[in-house]
Amino acid sequence: MPTIPEYTPGELLAKMESMGIPESLRESFRKCIDFHTYAAPGMLIGVFMVDCALKILGRRPEEKIFVTCETHKCLPDPPQVIMHATTGNHQLRVLPIGKFAMTFTPSSVKEYAEGIRIYVDRKKLDQYPALASWYDNSAAFKPATMKRQLAEEILAAACGMFSHERVRMKVTHKKKWNSVTCPSCGEQVPQDLMEGTTCAGCGSLAYYEKVT
Ligand SMILES: [Zn+2]
Repeated sequence: MPTIPEYTPGELLAKMESMGIPESLRESFRKCIDFHTYAAPGMLIGVFMVDCALKILGRRPEEKIFVTCETHKCLPDPPQVIMHATTGNHQLRVLPIGKFAMTFTPSSVKEYAEGIRIYVDRKKLDQYPALASWYDNSAAFKPATMKRQLAEEILAAACGMFSHERVRMKVTHKKKWNSVTCPSCGEQVPQDLMEGTTCAGCGSLAYYEKVT
């Protein structure tokens, strides 16, 4: 079977316009495709997930909202681009659970923050054969011929592929910390990150060998 080329970003954005996806959301897609470097299916799903979560919460993307993403794959990019929730500003945490799900909890000074957890609901994918087989990582999904159909089904499903639940989460407030010098490498680290007598870089998180 001949390969069916996938949509270019421009074709995808034009398709969104023809489907009535509003300009502000199309702009989020455009920025996220640019940031991610290509229109990965999981990233497109993530854009809808952020949009849908903000609507449910009645919040704007500029507000301080803590995001926990349950997979490293694609999904962490849309909250970074749309909401400026990054790992560097501590508003994004990525947990390697392996689920297409994110939790959105507006900033709170209390012990618990309340928000929502939104996830791809597999039961809602049955009417989208390409999306379902891609999501299942099944052999029924043929990348050579089904990528266009997959993109079309993601756009058609939009927020209809998700379910959500109200959640609360314990808040970790900033704590004072002391700097100590690791006796093994002679570099400074926060004391609470020491692993007994050495830093994690000399211990469980050692990841390089020095080349001389
Ligand atoms: Zn060290």
